[in-house]
Amino acid sequence: MGDKVSAKDAMIAAGVPTVPGSDGPLPEDEETALRIGREVGYPVIIKAAGGGGGRGMRVVHKEEDLIEAARQTRSEAGAWFGNPMVYLEKYLTNPRHVEVQVLSDGQGHAIHLGDRDCSLQRRHQKVLEEAPAPGLAENARQEVLARCVKACIDIGYRGAGTFEFLYENARFYFIEMNTRVQVEHLVSEMVTGIDIVKEMLSIAAGNPLSFTQDDVKMHGHSLECRINAEDPRTFIPSPGLVKHFHAPGGNGVRVDSHLYSGYKVPSNYDSLIGKLITWGATRDEAMARMCNALDEIVVDGIKTNIPLHRDLVRDEGFCEGGVNIHYLEQKLADQH
Ligand code: ADP
Repeated sequence: MGDKVSAKDAMIAAGVPTVPGSDGPLPEDEETALRIGREVGYPVIIKAAGGGGGRGMRVVHKEEDLIEAARQTRSEAGAWFGNPMVYLEKYLTNPRHVEVQVLSDGQGHAIHLGDRDCSLQRRHQKVLEEAPAPGLAENARQEVLARCVKACIDIGYRGAGTFEFLYENARFYFIEMNTRVQVEHLVSEMVTGIDIVKEMLSIAAGNPLSFTQDDVKMHGHSLECRINAEDPRTFIPSPGLVKHFHAPGGNGVRVDSHLYSGYKVPSNYDSLIGKLITWGATRDEAMARMCNALDEIVVDGIKTNIPLHRDLVRDEGFCEGGVNIHYLEQKLADQH
């Protein structure tokens, strides 16, 4: 099927902990759907099997709203993703988003490159990511990393991939697998020193993994700010001419971007125009470098979310570490 429902089924079979839910598509039959909702317990979230990018999801707080919410999500899913199938999950109220990077060659070898925290989100879209995820329960963390590696072997996975989890009360709940390289893979590269794109291409060329789990050494901490061409307050896209671009640099600073002075940001694509990444021996050092890099970067001519990032890296709760997926939206709401 190649959708989120079959991915979840495969993870259950491989022993990866998932969010309790409909265990398959949510049936159209109203009585069965209501029974599933009652068994799982409210609040629940209805999600499109073919969804992505944070779209095609609807939270339902009470039973009276379930049928209508399922109908609306089905119809949106059909229009947006060409697949009206939806499924139901328990809606976790205060989770963090923690994910695991893997490399697997489909020839019996798989490794993980540790975890990342992507809890700073707006409208279910990631804004700022870091590796490793701060303050996880070590037993649960080791267990989930091992399960992900085992799942790669069990399903014969081939390539770079990410297991996405919600993390609440020291427990992991699988939500989906991304069978590709993600925007935020860079923070894992920075703490492992491994070029994930190179390894992915090597695997695609039919080569076995050239190293083992023991060869992977985690070192330090890394942060990534997604730089978007958008108004930092209203989030309205801001395409147009970049009159002046200056990239920050120095030890532990990486900029991945296609920008240059005179570049015109088109209006037809995603608003992501660059990624600013820092590395430090400790989280505090990575954070200090990010503060400096954000003060140095210049993107003139269009609006960007750089002011939002400058604010975030000085935010007390975020600096402490371990905020949940609602933290950013609550912060934004408090400012208005
Ligand atoms: P997408 O593929 O669109 O990114 P995901 O399944 O990865 O969809 O979910 C994206 C985000 O939506 C998560 O990071 C989380 O913030 C929120 N979310 C998804 N499922 C749940 C759930 N069961 N409970 C609470 N929040 C959820």
